[in-house]
Amino acid sequence: MTAFNTFERHESEVRGYCRSFPAVFSTAKGAWMTDENGRQYLDFFCGAGVLNYGHNPDRIRAALLGYLMSDGITHTLDMYSEAKQRFIERFNEVILEPRGLSYKFQFPGPTGTNAVEAALKLARKVTGREQVIGFTNAFHGMTLGALAVTGNGFKRAGAGVPLGHSASVPFDGYLGQDTDTLDYFEAMLKDQGSGMDMPAAVIVETVQAEGGVNVASAAWLKRLREITQQHEILLIVDDIQVGCGRTGRFFSFEEAGIVPDIVTLSKSLSGYGLPLALVLIKPEYDVWAPGEHNGTFRGHCPAFVTATAALNYWQDDNLHQSVVQKGKLVEKRLRGMIDKLGIEAQVRGRGLIHGIEFSDPKVANAVSQACFKRGLIIETSGIDDQVLKLLPSLTIKDAELKQGLDIIEASVREVLLGETREDLIAAA
Ligand code: PLP
Repeated sequence: MTAFNTFERHESEVRGYCRSFPAVFSTAKGAWMTDENGRQYLDFFCGAGVLNYGHNPDRIRAALLGYLMSDGITHTLDMYSEAKQRFIERFNEVILEPRGLSYKFQFPGPTGTNAVEAALKLARKVTGREQVIGFTNAFHGMTLGALAVTGNGFKRAGAGVPLGHSASVPFDGYLGQDTDTLDYFEAMLKDQGSGMDMPAAVIVETVQAEGGVNVASAAWLKRLREITQQHEILLIVDDIQVGCGRTGRFFSFEEAGIVPDIVTLSKSLSGYGLPLALVLIKPEYDVWAPGEHNGTFRGHCPAFVTATAALNYWQDDNLHQSVVQKGKLVEKRLRGMIDKLGIEAQVRGRGLIHGIEFSDPKVANAVSQACFKRGLIIETSGIDDQVLKLLPSLTIKDAELKQGLDIIEASVREVLLGETREDLIAAA
């Protein structure tokens, strides 16, 4: 039986990404994935933001192997472990203290949606209010609380029950560049007749990754922080996909100069693809009773070890600077491509997350497929999959980045201008 038969016969229809990228992967290193036939693919997807430091980075792997070979404890529920102690101390030393931040650490179950659920429950408990505000095109996960503040109608319908205790308001830019959507939100909050219950919290992504690479401006985020403060509403920044350096600095909200009340992290936190999630809570809001929110896998020791090793990337400013520089390179190249080819498309992004939105929503998917044929893994996002989303690893080499961008350009030419691979080879 071929591997494909195994999956098609036995794995649920719910499987998704394997349909866009039909290969069976076996090994991976840095920016590259290799399938069972030895074919190599350049990875511009990075597990939807899990692999910011690339696949199997040597310096993190060494820490993991050392820990496993010394029979370091793997599972402790939420009992104390040396691995957890080291992670907390190092995260404070490298990330929080230099930024003047003070947060308590909650380790929920290991996925992003676990962190979001914990954050929402805590905000409701702190304020005694029920409603949480999410934004149009937001994505926060697949469990019921997180889905209730997620925009995507298809995913919401999958809940099979009403999703409540939430309201959706327009994200930055949703009503066009000339409208500050926070005017609407603020007016609703101030007006007793608006029909909006006073919320416990607002949950926001600074860049909506799944929602189509929609970038909130620093000014908009600042104003959101001011409004939430004025109304004593907790501000939760969901940094699960665009935190851990994706936009340049470790936290995506740093550029806006704001301090959220709660921050959720997961995906690249462990630095190695091992599941780990973290809820950072301002100390005054840590009102949990012992064991009130629990779970079996709250902090996986090998993931603490790799997460601690990953923090070495943040001991100095080099990675931040390199992400900014590579981000500029990507933006320039994509804008240049659009001008050169005369196509209708929009480029958006920050740091090393960029999206190209094509005027015809079918184009992004076709380009993603054409890229895959050429050996580049790149996903689409947005409600109609209308945005091609570039998410290379932060540690990718310039030459690899350029190679991926060349493949994107060749694929766009093929899809939009009908140029074949042979035409492109002849023209080169
Ligand atoms: N929040 C954001 C911003 C995300 O991008 C995601 C996943 O893509 C989640 C939450 C949910 O994370 P998980 O899939 O690990 O539950």
